[in-house]
Amino acid sequence: MEFEPNRQNTEPEGLIRDWEGKPYNPISLFYRGLFGSKVFKVPVALADDCPNRRGLKGMETCNFCDVHGSFAYPENANKELKEQIDRHMKKVGERCNTDKFLIYFQAYTTTFLQLKRLKEAFDIALSYDNVVGLVVGTRPDCLSPAVMRTWEEYAQKTFVAVEVGVQSFDNKQLDWMKRGHDRQQSITGLHRISENCPSINLGVHLMFGWPGEQIEDVIDAAKICNHLPIHNVKLHNLHVLKETPLAELHARGEFEACSLDNYSAYVGAFLGHLRQDIAVHRLAALASRWDELVAPDWARHRMRNFQYIIDYLNDRDIFQGKSYEGQDLEYQRKLIEGENISYWSS
Ligand code: SF4
Repeated sequence: MEFEPNRQNTEPEGLIRDWEGKPYNPISLFYRGLFGSKVFKVPVALADDCPNRRGLKGMETCNFCDVHGSFAYPENANKELKEQIDRHMKKVGERCNTDKFLIYFQAYTTTFLQLKRLKEAFDIALSYDNVVGLVVGTRPDCLSPAVMRTWEEYAQKTFVAVEVGVQSFDNKQLDWMKRGHDRQQSITGLHRISENCPSINLGVHLMFGWPGEQIEDVIDAAKICNHLPIHNVKLHNLHVLKETPLAELHARGEFEACSLDNYSAYVGAFLGHLRQDIAVHRLAALASRWDELVAPDWARHRMRNFQYIIDYLNDRDIFQGKSYEGQDLEYQRKLIEGENISYWSS
């Protein structure tokens, strides 16, 4: 079959209330439609650094990030790429009875590497018959023209997804997290990717649960997403891992992790205002290394949390896009031009 690099979502004509029983549009449906069956991600570490940890332009480590650079399998981090792929594929393939994989370059900032290494890694990943695509995690301020050309080049022959760690569209929150970029850099970066890489599948990571966060902030984030050229979002609950700057704040009583109930309310407010064609990777992050988790305790339990959030949404008849109000071209112009606006308070 000829590879067709068309990744554009289209808004549904009528209001959808559920997606195979779920109150949100899960990315698994998109994958199934594209690949004809389930696919699983194989997270790998290629980079071992990022602009924050390097201290470029006075940047500091993001306050929630552990020494493994948000990598789910640090025990594999120092292994050759091929060995990382082989080990993980064997484990997932046996457990999940699947033979289609996406190689997910997850750890640190993958686009902080030399381009030559990145291309070599892509070629190694694609040398496997059962690898159907590549997923690259990066930041909104690490997008060189050469990197984007490379993504588009590979997207002409395979599925390429880019997941951008935006985390928040609120500058106060971004400062507090020590992200080292602001909301406008995220918005501009996502538009640059979309313009330069029309064939890639583009997503953003967002975090909820920062101190002082209001429901309106979350609604604002959904409305901004609605005006961005993105195809999917991944939601995380801010959680505290050992030996992170956030753990120090937590120990001093300056940060309290949000409850599952409050987090569910954030997810409900966000999804309720999100366009229905934007696929959702997941509703919350699981702390994959339990021994590192400080708080909240509920972040240990993947299925229990998932079900809690689903029940929360169903009990209140919340579903993705229920309160979506359509596109506002004037708002979109302001976003692109960087005017200091807030959707909900204007
Ligand atoms: S979250 Fe990403 S950018 Fe921030 S310190 Fe960790 S690896 Fe670096």
